[in-house]
Formats: sequence, C-alpha cells, structure tokens
Amino acid sequence: MTEIFTGSFTQQEPIPEEAVEAALAVLRHGRLHRYNVVPGELGETALLEQEFAAQMGAKYCLAVSSGGYALAAALRAVGVQPGDPVLTNAFTLAPVPGSIASVGARPVFVGVTEGLVVDLDDLEAKLDQARVLMLSHMRGHLCDMDRLMQMCDAAGVIVIEDCAHTMGAAWRGQLSGRQGAIGCYSCQTYKHVNSGEGGLLVTDDEELAAKATMLSGSYMLYERHLAAPGPEVFERIKYNTPNVSGRMDNLRAAILRPQLRDLDQQVSRWNERYAEIEDGLRDTPGLTIVERPEGETYVGSSIQFLLLDWSPERIAEVIHRCAARGVELKWFGGAEPTGFTSRYDSWRYADSAPLPASDRVLAGIMDMRVPLTFSLEDCRLIARIIRAEVGAVYQS
Ligand SMILES: *Cc1c(COP(=O)(O)O)cnc(C)c1O
Repeated sequence: MTEIFTGSFTQQEPIPEEAVEAALAVLRHGRLHRYNVVPGELGETALLEQEFAAQMGAKYCLAVSSGGYALAAALRAVGVQPGDPVLTNAFTLAPVPGSIASVGARPVFVGVTEGLVVDLDDLEAKLDQARVLMLSHMRGHLCDMDRLMQMCDAAGVIVIEDCAHTMGAAWRGQLSGRQGAIGCYSCQTYKHVNSGEGGLLVTDDEELAAKATMLSGSYMLYERHLAAPGPEVFERIKYNTPNVSGRMDNLRAAILRPQLRDLDQQVSRWNERYAEIEDGLRDTPGLTIVERPEGETYVGSSIQFLLLDWSPERIAEVIHRCAARGVELKWFGGAEPTGFTSRYDSWRYADSAPLPASDRVLAGIMDMRVPLTFSLEDCRLIARIIRAEVGAVYQS
C-alpha cells in the first residue's frame, strides 16, 4: 500500500481562546489605534512592547506593521542612505533585499554554506564594502554568532538581525536578535506567533529606539509608550526623523500577547516534530541532513535538507513524486521565483556578483514547513514518504 499524507502545510493552529477574548474586548471598545486610549488606560500595543522587551531582555521594543517594515525602519534608524551598500545573505527571502531596496540602498550579497548559514569567510572578505550588515537567520539557522560579532565589531559594521525564523531561538544561551544593534521579528501567520501581519523590533540603543518609534508614526505621542526611551532622547531626534507610518494596532497586539506567553512551549512542540522528521530522513542515500551546531537552540518550524549535486531534472522528479503523495517540498534552486522561494539572482533590481559555491548549495536546498497542526505520527509519515521517493529517484 502506498502511504499518502493528507494534511495541510499551510494550516496553522487556531488563535488561542484567551487571545480571541482579548481581541473581542478591543473590538467592543473600538479603540484600535494604538494611541487611542482613555485616561489611565494602557493600550494593548504598549503592553505588548513592554512584555516583549522583558521577554527578550531588551531595554526597548517597538511593535510595527510587519517584519519587513521593522527591517526597513532599522536600516533608516542606523542611518542608511540611498545608494549605500548593505551586506546581506544570498540565501534569504525577498522581504530582506526588499527592505534594503525600499530605502534606496544596494544589497551586497554574502554567500551561504552547506550548513545554510552566512559564509563567514566571504563576509570577512566583504566587510570593508559596507557599514551595515542585514543578517538574515534564514530558516532559523544561526551562524557562529561569536565570530560574526567579533568580526563586525572590529570592522565597525553595524549588525541588524532578521529574526523572522528565530523568534525563541538562541546562540549559546543568548536569545536571537540580542547580539546585533537591532533585532527584528515578524508576527505574520507563517512565523512563530500569528497576528496575520505584524512586526517587532528590539534594541538597547536609546537613539535607535527613539528614531524607530518616530519613524513608525508616533506623531508626538511617544510618551504613551512603555518600552521607549525618555522624552529627552526624542527631543534630540524628533525634528529630523520623518514619519513613515507603520504602526501596530491594538487588535493585533491583543492577539499576540497570549501567544508570546506560550512561545517556549510552542518551541518545544515544533522541535519534537522537527526531530521526528530529521530522524526519519537520516541515512537516506543521496540526501544530506543539515546538522545543527552545538551552540544553537533552534525552532524547528521548518526543515531543510540538501540534494547536493543532483540534476535539476531529478530534483523536480523528487518534488513531483512527493507532491503526488501529499508532501509539499519547496526548492530554492529553481530558475524562476515561485511562491516564497527565490534566488539572489532573481532579484534583478539588485546587481549581484556570481557566488559559485553558494549556487551549488542553493541548487540543492529542499525546504518544508512544519506547522504545529501536524501530529508526531504525521511527521513520521512525511519522513517515510520523502525517504522512499528520494531513494527511488536516487537509485533510478
Ligand atoms: C517573513 C520574513 C520576513 C518579513 O516578514 P513580513 O512580516 O512578512 O514582512 C523577513 N525575513 C524573512 C526571512 C522572512 O521569512
């Protein structure tokens, strides 16, 4: 009998009841705008920022409209100007180079290793080309953050972290997003907390926090924030920081607060599922497991494996055969961008120098989402299907 998987790779869990209740309360009073509060009231957005700052051990937090907005605000806050080069990962998703392009700056791509992290040797060679690195922890893979920060600090390169896939992850016990000058998170449906759209930004730097807050569209109401610097910091920057509206609203914040309280538990549940799939795929001929480094605490909300040096035709055959059995694999090596996968050379608004070693890795990256609606048995079944189909094509 041929086993078929019938679950959905895009179905997340429902919003927890407590969050639904909190959302209803906001809808019933009608004060959705973050600055629309009655005397003495602490709005949901301000409370979310206060709680997330505490959870991350950060001095300051700002909630915004999306992860991509947080990245662009971070770039503006650190002073990136039109035409400036910004170092970033060749292996990432389109909103990352997009945020750089949105401020008129120019991405300079850094290669990817077989461990799916930024190639630190390539980065070292390019550090003199820019004063900012937009580091994307793509698909939750953390590089040796100690070495990276050492290199960037020595070169005077400011690090902005894209933690869309590492909310809840850590490097040697330090939460992801807390090594660089600014950490940015996404609360979009497919990330680790779900408000449909939304973003969070954390930093310990008072001036960056004040600038990001002004940028997000705080008018002169920044005193209603609970995780922002004091008014004297805003005094210094308020006349020179434009309003580029991208605020979070109280409805989304209400939905997010209970989810953030559950984050650690959700991370364990993702990792149980990840472990089942990884175990099931181990020792499949032709398939390379992406081994996780010792210092990394990851969030297994998606899994990647490599079909290194396979021809595009054979990879397409694996994808086709798995799809026929209900298993949706995404491929980062495809010539055309499809869905959320694209390659650095498909972002044609940005010039890119060839990265042959990275091209070899990218051509073999297979990617799969692991929503929490999958049971552990679902994960074992999915692994059996991939194993069988990779094996069948490998031996043919
Ligand atoms: C989703 C995502 C973002 C941006 O998040 P949005 O909230 O969708 O703007 C940034 N980087 C990566 C790697 C992502 O996957």
